[in-house]
Amino acid sequence: MKVFKFGGASVKDAQGIENVFNVLQKVGHENVLLVISAMGKTTNALEVVVKNYMDKSAELQSSIQEVKKYHNQILLDLFEEETHEVFFAVNKLFTDLESFLKNNKSPNYSFVYDQVVSMGEILSTTIVSHYFNYRGLHNEWTDVREFIKTDTTYRDAVVDWEQTQQNIAKNIKKKTLIITQGFLGSDENNFTTTLGREGSDYTAAIFAYCLNAESVTIWKDVPGVLNADPRYFDNAILLNQISYREAIELAFYGATVIHPKTLQPLQRKEIPLYVKSFLNPLLPGTSVSKGADLEPHTSCYIVKKNQLLISLSSLDFSFIMEENISEIFSLLHKYKMKVHLIQNSAISFSVCADDKFGNFTELKSILDRKFKVTYNENVSLYTIRHFTDKSAKAIAQDKDILVRQVSRETMQIVAKDKLVSE
Ligand code: ASP
Ligand code: MG
Repeated sequence: MKVFKFGGASVKDAQGIENVFNVLQKVGHENVLLVISAMGKTTNALEVVVKNYMDKSAELQSSIQEVKKYHNQILLDLFEEETHEVFFAVNKLFTDLESFLKNNKSPNYSFVYDQVVSMGEILSTTIVSHYFNYRGLHNEWTDVREFIKTDTTYRDAVVDWEQTQQNIAKNIKKKTLIITQGFLGSDENNFTTTLGREGSDYTAAIFAYCLNAESVTIWKDVPGVLNADPRYFDNAILLNQISYREAIELAFYGATVIHPKTLQPLQRKEIPLYVKSFLNPLLPGTSVSKGADLEPHTSCYIVKKNQLLISLSSLDFSFIMEENISEIFSLLHKYKMKVHLIQNSAISFSVCADDKFGNFTELKSILDRKFKVTYNENVSLYTIRHFTDKSAKAIAQDKDILVRQVSRETMQIVAKDKLVSE
């Protein structure tokens, strides 16, 4: 069995969905399980719905209407007759969403988030599944929440591998094309959970692991994994082969092509992961597998923008010792700050972190009690894997460097940008 994953960009409009259909015609769809994300920017749009709902904002209805209009336009572009059952199916999903919002009593933001935002994937797979059938490509729409079981950490749910493995082994029928949702799971009470933003790659890996799949292919709008993000660097080149280990390192430092959690399950069973272009599906793309570390061997550049650089020193110039460090880390963990770089000296300790949940002000008020806290907002973290003198120099140019850290294969720089901007 093969697992394919198509992300939001590949199904952002009717043309995109037709293209996915064409890709399957070209590369084959026997024994394929298809994992699909929400269309285009739907997840972001549904996040706005959640926010409006929780804030009791007057904009709630219009934000729902926006999601509705977007999907409706895609339906009108894909299907000739407005009497096709897909129009009713999609309409019913919106009625379900509205009745959830009406009846919900939970004040838990993350719980509500998962119940609402999950609608993006349910909508996209419903539309794609009907469209493929309409074009004569028989497939089975499958609700991923009956397979992937998780704990109740809404928005960042942890997979219960044992149960998931059992469900998948028992119930996935092979041969027919299966269409299912990325990003979603369900808890023991069957409430919807989500696996963290951009989690659909991970869904593909979970299925591949449980099915002992032959391979996973992530179809993207780029030719494969590049050595740099083309948004920030000119002359990015395609990597033909990367080892799991190298891919895990790249993902760890923030390369966004492959979701970090995706790689571990695949590596454990040595299931190859291909990253290919949905625009040129017959090209080989990148293979992430056992084998050469990096082919061609070249410097890889990763940028993380909007980072916080927090520096702590003790109030009395005493050393920052193990117990301080362990306390600092447990606070960083508690406030969900994602740490990307650590540097310490005798009396100071710095971390470069992502404040994804906007918790820094609260965290700072706690840290202030024990440490002198200084910080820079909006800094960028540059990582070069396999750096050379030349690549290191090129990165350092035009930047105000706040921290530099070098190990054998990796150079990291925290800098205030002077020239490069989003
Ligand atoms: N739709 C979800 C998101 O945008 C999951 C994904 O795309 O992988 O985060
Ligand atoms: Mg998405």
